[in-house]
Amino acid sequence: MFSKILLDWFDEHRRDLPWRNTDDPYKIWVSEVILQQTRVVQGLSYYHNFIANFPTVTALAEADESQVLKVWQGLGYYSRARNMHAAAQSVVRDHGGTFPSDYDSIRRLKGVGDYTAAAIASFAFNLPYPAVDGNVLRFTARYKGLFDNIATAATRKKVEAICHEWMPAEHAGTFNQAMMEMGAIQCVPTNPNCEQCPFAPTCYAALHHCTDTLPVKEKTTKVKDRYFHYLIYLKDNQSIIQKRTDNDIWKGLYEFPLVETESDRFDLDQFLQENRIRSLAAPQIALQKNHLLSHQRLHLTFHLIRPEKLPKPTENQQVAGVDELPEFAVSKVTAEMVALLVR
Ligand code: SF4
Repeated sequence: MFSKILLDWFDEHRRDLPWRNTDDPYKIWVSEVILQQTRVVQGLSYYHNFIANFPTVTALAEADESQVLKVWQGLGYYSRARNMHAAAQSVVRDHGGTFPSDYDSIRRLKGVGDYTAAAIASFAFNLPYPAVDGNVLRFTARYKGLFDNIATAATRKKVEAICHEWMPAEHAGTFNQAMMEMGAIQCVPTNPNCEQCPFAPTCYAALHHCTDTLPVKEKTTKVKDRYFHYLIYLKDNQSIIQKRTDNDIWKGLYEFPLVETESDRFDLDQFLQENRIRSLAAPQIALQKNHLLSHQRLHLTFHLIRPEKLPKPTENQQVAGVDELPEFAVSKVTAEMVALLVR
């Protein structure tokens, strides 16, 4: 029987991870959001650090947003941290600081989707909701021989229904964890070890030798190119930094003054002239990077400018000492640039 084989396998092979040894829905939620964007090994230190800074949902709710973003720094997808902060505040406001224990209330928290709600509901409260992540999609598609595109919501629903049938009601949380673990360490994306898999005798992909064609994944979203030119003004060991306030990537984080262009062409000399900024030396490119987000490919160039005097800060800008820059919550790429400046 499917679930018995799965749970026996999990019993023997499960990794000992801190969020597996708790039924605290807050800690489970934090770990799930962190693991949506990083691998387990890297996620561990972020998880411990996050819980050390915000040990309870109330502590998270009471923190400043900039404090939360600083702790989140390096993980990317900052909107997820902002959503968690807002959701923690609604747990305190609407549920008296106690994490809700029914699926619908958990699902209504800001930023919590079907997967995360099911993970929290099943791991913390053993409620029978299948948590379908990328690992579960891959494993199920191979095992059942599903040739549907796993990037669509319809396939996800189909896999949820299959998992629901497999799920033993009394072990919903363990079943979900075991499904994910199977995909994460056994039915891995490339070269899964079918020879030592307990499902090999009944697995479609193993029997038909098509593990490299399953699952089918066709991207449905187009990646947009964006060109960011950051202007690092340096004068008397001071610079200018600004907060991103628009509804765009990295909202709430700090960065150097930015000029976004339509292509990689940017005439910095002309820009400085038009803005009456006299440079004491020829500007230099301090760092160039491409950075891939889920729907955007960012082309980032950091220009080092030594002006006669610092330009007057605009409303969302401020003058900051170069030594103070590491204290600001910034994107991973800007953190790399700041590290070059202060070393
Ligand atoms: S037999 Fe191979 S393809 Fe099938 S579930 Fe096991 S590891 Fe995955």
